[in-house]
Amino acid sequence: MRVIGLTGGIASGKSLVAATFRELGAEVIDADHVARDVVAPGSPILGDIAAALGPSLILPDGTLDRRALADRVFNDPEARRTLNAITHPAIRARILEAIARIGRQRPDAVVIVDIPLLLDVTPADAYPLDGIVVVYADEGTQLQRLMHRDRLSEEEARRRLAAQRPLGEKIPAATWVIDNSGAPEATREQVVALWRRWQTAS
Ligand code: ADP
Repeated sequence: MRVIGLTGGIASGKSLVAATFRELGAEVIDADHVARDVVAPGSPILGDIAAALGPSLILPDGTLDRRALADRVFNDPEARRTLNAITHPAIRARILEAIARIGRQRPDAVVIVDIPLLLDVTPADAYPLDGIVVVYADEGTQLQRLMHRDRLSEEEARRRLAAQRPLGEKIPAATWVIDNSGAPEATREQVVALWRRWQTAS
């Protein structure tokens, strides 16, 4: 089994690249999905968040008020650290379990672990990775795609970009870089080429 970390910046194209790897036969673990699972209604982690950051973050139907939480942590670094300290160990444990499960079921699999905050909040050694793919798009392109996808004003999109480690700073830690500044087809070709390299190298 080969375990590859996939990261990039917000709207740099991680989902596009992950979907292409999945089509090619990779097992994909999506850290954002895992992050949503660990705060499902009734979960202990959700209770911990309410206890630390306020019970008003739980909606009457028992679900997490994601918008209120996002607003809160976006404007308050201390709250963001608290939230990360509560959620990240649980997310990491689930991802490690998923990797182990795939290892038992498909020992020859290529596992892509899509972790937006890898090389940012999450250090590279948090997972047993054989390499890291960074999906890059130049900042202007990233900004335009973010505004379009999430229907944000330029100012809002810039604020979200500014809250992350600049994408260019992740490049030196990459084992492989996929440049998604161009057309989706050009990105797909890079993903296929990388996939073939992995097949022949194993
Ligand atoms: P991420 O998962 O890194 O946040 P996405 O894969 O969702 O980024 O891409 C961000 C947005 O840009 C999406 O709306 C997506 O459809 C669009 N997009 C991604 N890659 C390209 C591309 N090469 N050309 C045009 N649009 C793209």
